[in-house]
Parts: sequence; structure tokens; C-alpha cells
Amino acid sequence: MRCWAEININNLYSNIDEIEKIVAKDKIIAVIKADAYGHGMLKICDALIKKGIKNFAVATSDEALKIKELHNDIMVLILGPVENEYMDLIADKNIYFMVTDFEEIEYLEKIGKEKVKTTDVFIKIDTGMGRVGFQESEVEDLNKILKNSSYINPIGIFSHFSSSDSDKDYTKLQESKFKAMCEKISSGILSIKYRHLHNSFGTLKFQDSIEDFVRVGIILYGGVTDEETAPYKFKPVMSLLAKISYIKTLKEDSFISYGNTYKGKAGKTYATVSIGYADGVRRDLSNKGYVFYKGHKCEIVGRVCMDQLMILLPEELKDVAKKGDIVEFFGENISVVEVANLCNTISYEIMCGISQRVPRIYV
Ligand code: PLP
Repeated sequence: MRCWAEININNLYSNIDEIEKIVAKDKIIAVIKADAYGHGMLKICDALIKKGIKNFAVATSDEALKIKELHNDIMVLILGPVENEYMDLIADKNIYFMVTDFEEIEYLEKIGKEKVKTTDVFIKIDTGMGRVGFQESEVEDLNKILKNSSYINPIGIFSHFSSSDSDKDYTKLQESKFKAMCEKISSGILSIKYRHLHNSFGTLKFQDSIEDFVRVGIILYGGVTDEETAPYKFKPVMSLLAKISYIKTLKEDSFISYGNTYKGKAGKTYATVSIGYADGVRRDLSNKGYVFYKGHKCEIVGRVCMDQLMILLPEELKDVAKKGDIVEFFGENISVVEVANLCNTISYEIMCGISQRVPRIYV
């Protein structure tokens, strides 16, 4: 194997233990969309079920159908849109989905009448994320429609924080909007049993307003730093690793990689590593990133290629480096957040960006 993502299930379990310091296991909805943030949805789902997790959230109908087929007894909620023509199928499989506007409500009423069938749904409300969901001005009408509906069975309400990691005041505003909107929508509707609002940072930082569930993603996978999550500590679940395929000491100064952006120096030793941007190592890391190798952070030199990249070996490693040795891009020694910062993005995007051709090895 030239490169792989090692997925550490013990670290995943340790992260669950950490979340359980805040909420009980049965209040956790594990967010495993986007292939469990690149970690492998089915394997992560299996592992979490073994740890006692029973509630899961995904983004698409396809993701939901895949896990429900294997595990019929877990709760699965789809956080993304479900097209009208699939709602029936999804509901038949006992998968929960959200309604976000009156058009979807009308559609469910129509097919409910035709098929004499009631559909369980979650109501999605917009408390300030500005993505999808009923707005504050719509909740009165919504309450009336739901009260009079014979075919829609609203079982819960949820919303999403936009800035729980960074903006306390705005998050507080979302909390109070959520409470007020939930009360208006649920007035006189007994079927509404579940309310949830908290993502990872909401769960860590706004514990007082946690209701029936929390929907946690990034802290499950440890794509965070201790500074961000103190006093809680999360361990990285994914380590991105690759092998050294070639080592050379330059006889004379010469350019390294495409575009001649880096000039190697005579006498310095460089290693070529078998991983590139087609595997998910961002090209932004050209002449900027580093890898961890035998206790050293080694600079990535020249442009990251599609399948390979080059690193400068420090003097201490010149004589000990070997073809076939393993280097780490992120994981136990380099935080994925550090890599994300270098690429001007977030850890989520780095982890989701590890491509399908990179084998996931579960340890
Ligand atoms: N809830 C919703 C609706 C989401 O879209 C997401 C992720 O994007 C989450 C929960 C989980 O967020 P986090 O990974 O920050 O915990």
C-alpha cells in the first residue's frame, strides 16, 4: 500500500466517552454523513452501534438507505433535502426526514390522502443559519396546518447553529429563537416529542439548552484541538499515512517538482512520498505544509503532484531514512486542524477530501 488512512476505533470510543460526560448515550445522534466525514460510514456506524449508539444522522436518502438496510433497529434521520418522489419510499423504510417548507407539507398531505397513510416527519426551522427551514413569521400558519392535518405526523422539531464555535451572542439568540418557535409550533400538537439544536460545539459550550438530542459530528472524529474543546479532550480518529518511495541527495542545486517553485540544494537530501492531491493532500500545501517522520516535521518542497510529493529531510534523518518508511500527514502527531489552517479551510473539508482511492484501515 502506498498510502492509507488509519482509522482508530479506540479513539472513536474515547470520544464517545468524552461526549457522555455531557449527555447520556441515548441522547447522542452520531452524524455520519459524507462517509462519516471520510472515515467510512458503514464501518463507523457498525463500531458505534457496538458502543451502544442507536441514533444516526446522514445527509442523503442514499446514505440513509445503505445503513438502514444493514441495521433496521437504529434511528436514522436525513439532514439534507429529500425530493418529493422519494419521501414515500424513505418513510416506508422507517427513516426520518425533515420538512422545510409549505410545498413539502402540501405534497405529503396530497399523497397521504391518496394512499390513506400518515407520514412521520421532523419540522426543520431556521433560527439563524439561513439555509433551510420555516422562518419565525411562518410558524403560526404552520401550527394551524399541522393541527388540521390528518396525514402528517410531526414527531420533532430541529434547527442548526451557525456559529456555536465562534459567536456566543449569536448562538444565544438562536437558542432563544428555537425555544420560542418550538413552543408556537407545538402548541396543541401532542405528537411532537423531540427537539434538537446542538452540533458539536453547541454541545460543548451551550450545555444548558440541550433538549432531547445532540447531533455531533466533528468531535466524534476528533477533528478539533484541545484549546478549542477544553476542558474536554478528543482524540484524532483518522491518521493519513504514506510511504517514502525514493530518496536522493542532490549532487548539484536543482529544481524540484512542477513549475520550478523550489530549488533543491546540493548536499541536501530529499524524499519522494507516494501520496498527492488525487488522494486528498491539498495542493495548497506546496512549499508550505509538512509531514511527521521519525520525530521531525519535514517540509513539503515544491508543488504537490497528483500522486506524489517531495519532502526535505533534516540532517539528522539523512542517513537513517529508508524507502518504505511511513510518514504522517495528520493524525497523532500533526493535527488535522493545523493542516486545515495552512489550507485556509476547516478540518471537516480536509477529512471529507481524502479520496476514495485511499484505503481506510481500521485498527
Ligand atoms: N446537524 C446538522 C444539521 C449538520 O449539518 C451538521 C454538520 O454539518 C451537524 C449537525 C454536525 O455538525 P458538527 O460536525 O459540527 O458537530
